[in-house]
Amino acid sequence: MIPRNPHIANLSSGYLFPEISKRRNAFAKEHPEAKIISLGIGNTTEPLTAHVVEGLSSEVAALGTPAGYSGYGEDLGLTALRERIASAVYGGIVSPEEVFISDGAKCDIGRFQWLFGAGAAVAVQDPAYPVYVDGSVMIGAAGKTKADGSGYEGIAYMPCTAENGFFPDLSLIPRNGLVYFCSPNNPTGAVATKAQLKSLVDTAREKGCVILFDAAYSAYIRDPELPRSIFEIEGSRSCAIEINSFSKPIGFTGVRLGWSVVPKELAFADGTPVMKDWTRLMTTVFNGASNIAQKGGLASLDETGLAETRALTDYYLENARLIREALSLPNFAAAGVELYGGYNAPYIWARFPGRKSWDVFDRILRECHVVCTPGAGFGPAGESFIRFSSFGHREQVAEACARLGKLSL
Ligand code: PLP
Repeated sequence: MIPRNPHIANLSSGYLFPEISKRRNAFAKEHPEAKIISLGIGNTTEPLTAHVVEGLSSEVAALGTPAGYSGYGEDLGLTALRERIASAVYGGIVSPEEVFISDGAKCDIGRFQWLFGAGAAVAVQDPAYPVYVDGSVMIGAAGKTKADGSGYEGIAYMPCTAENGFFPDLSLIPRNGLVYFCSPNNPTGAVATKAQLKSLVDTAREKGCVILFDAAYSAYIRDPELPRSIFEIEGSRSCAIEINSFSKPIGFTGVRLGWSVVPKELAFADGTPVMKDWTRLMTTVFNGASNIAQKGGLASLDETGLAETRALTDYYLENARLIREALSLPNFAAAGVELYGGYNAPYIWARFPGRKSWDVFDRILRECHVVCTPGAGFGPAGESFIRFSSFGHREQVAEACARLGKLSL
């Protein structure tokens, strides 16, 4: 028989979200009467906006006509979309040729892991979006789970804690490696300042590293002082790649569309431009994003589309405010629960001192019939934390908040 890929065999357990579903389903089976509400997974819930739907439907209609039909599109994405991203999202600080359209940020993360390969050392914020670590294990850039269970061998975990303001100690970054950095952060909701990103860029340059900057939640930043892109930071063009997505700004989680920016100046140790190899990889294993999705994305970035994006992200930010309010009620305050995030990000990161994340998860599920995400699933430093997601219908979020107010802690 064909041998199992040993790197995939190194993965310790199920991906976080399937485990949550397992527990939720087991509870639902025991209590079929329970009306479970999810504040767990970061999946969008609100319908697509009118102007974006127009963009999508006009392309569907065109595809049904001889004149409007097109098969495979431009390999790296519609030129018009690349141009609009460069101007509308980046205000011209990146060029359209540096923007590569994809089927989403998660898929691009996997392909970048492939691009850099098993030889590159890996550093992650701890806690982190699980794909950075699990994908690194799958390609062999990391080894087995450590004996003490605190993560995988070969990964430099950089704790992001309340004590360090959720910004890591950069001396932990290995030389010549790949540094995953997510801001606004999933799961902590922390947003790095310009000064913090400048120190990250300076360290990456000094250590010969590449920063994979995940900006999937940049549309949630309201504070004008906070950077929305790594490319706002001087020196970043020679050490960073930015990954972004239409999922969280306009609800394309199911439609699937994203992009990555690979600057011309970024090069491997032998001088080969990263852009050259990325183009080769994308044109080999990716056949371009859906033409329908790209027309929707294009609509989302004109004046009307940007106003819709703002309204939609405001909706989720208002949910975040309600959740923060509920988690500040006397039952939580008395238990010493500390709240972080939720202002320029759709996630609230709550610390339950002295408790295990999965225990709190189970308690909230059993008592409130609310699903949240145990912080421990995002890395060793997530223990004792719970992530609450603001992606939900308002009535459901309000109901979940009312139930949380009665939780006994
Ligand atoms: N990056 C982060 C930090 C995320 O939280 C998510 C989804 O939850 C993604 C990327 C995936 O985005 P996409 O839907 O574009 O694949």
